[in-house]
Amino acid sequence: MSATILDGAAMAARIRAEVREAAARLGERGRRPGLGVLLVGDDPASAVYVRGKTRACDEVGLAHETQRLAASAATEEVLERVEDYNRRTDIHGILVQLPLPRHVDVDRVLRAVAPAKDVDGFHPENVGLLVQKRPRFVPCTPAGIMELLTRSGIAVAGRRAVVLGRSDIVGKPMAMLLLHADATVTVCHSRTPDLAAVTREADLLVAAIGRPGFVRAEHVRPGAVVIEVGINRIESREAAVDLLDAERLRAFDARGNAVVGDVHRSVAAVAGALSPVPGGVGPLTIAMLVANTVRAAETAG
Ligand code: NDP
Repeated sequence: MSATILDGAAMAARIRAEVREAAARLGERGRRPGLGVLLVGDDPASAVYVRGKTRACDEVGLAHETQRLAASAATEEVLERVEDYNRRTDIHGILVQLPLPRHVDVDRVLRAVAPAKDVDGFHPENVGLLVQKRPRFVPCTPAGIMELLTRSGIAVAGRRAVVLGRSDIVGKPMAMLLLHADATVTVCHSRTPDLAAVTREADLLVAAIGRPGFVRAEHVRPGAVVIEVGINRIESREAAVDLLDAERLRAFDARGNAVVGDVHRSVAAVAGALSPVPGGVGPLTIAMLVANTVRAAETAG
């Protein structure tokens, strides 16, 4: 048996096409949706993510602007930029690229984003609405995973779901969405004993821990749906030999690094369906960001 691969990239392209139409309709009414991005510091991975997001804005016809601040910027300076975006009528969605430099008070910054422009869904008001099943903006990665499940015809109601990871950005909102979709949900983390016994109960397993190839065949019930979220860059050849198939290993040898998910390739022989990294949840995350920005523009006063 070999898992059906869930093609998140193709699904994301379809969602972007739908968002493009919605954005065009708003444009005809004189309201071109706009995303304001704030990038603090010079983390290369953050720069790559921001480029991916602004490229998606271009593709679907959204206006966008990226304000950059030095890594030394104080919390107050970051807050000023957020306030500027809050005030502007041409900016409907605000994205503060995380992580922020260590000395910046990330909670204060995220609380400063106007809830109606909080397209990442990180403001406590939006978190509360999600918990109460009255969602306004849902964090983009778990929202994208729900789209993937729905559009792939994968039933969630009544099934056992296990979420590996309990971050505010992925694990917790993922668990909440699955609960609201009537799954029986268990959340695991670094203090969970006998993890494999828990994950083997899952009909649906979401791996969001950021540990290369952590989830192995013995963690997965035969036929389960497995969604990979973690994005890990590996540079050791020993890890590459373990984690990559022959074709990707050749690419690793040419480049000296590779991006892998949290799920070991042995899982493909056990799972019923698999959304792999790279190419699955990442593009869906970006598609949900542009979708949320258009919704913010639709509902703006
Ligand atoms: P965090 O580091 O905030 O959270 C990681 C979670 O995994 C924590 O809850 C941690 O437990 C848990 N964990 C870590 N190691 C283990 C372990 N050995 N066993 C069990 N649980 C463990 O990460 P994020 O949630 O922000 O992101 C997770 C991964 O997903 C990262 O690789 C990130 O790059 C990727 N990501 C991908 C996105 C995409 O678009 N595809 C979007 C967002 C994130 P504890 O709480 O106990 O420390």
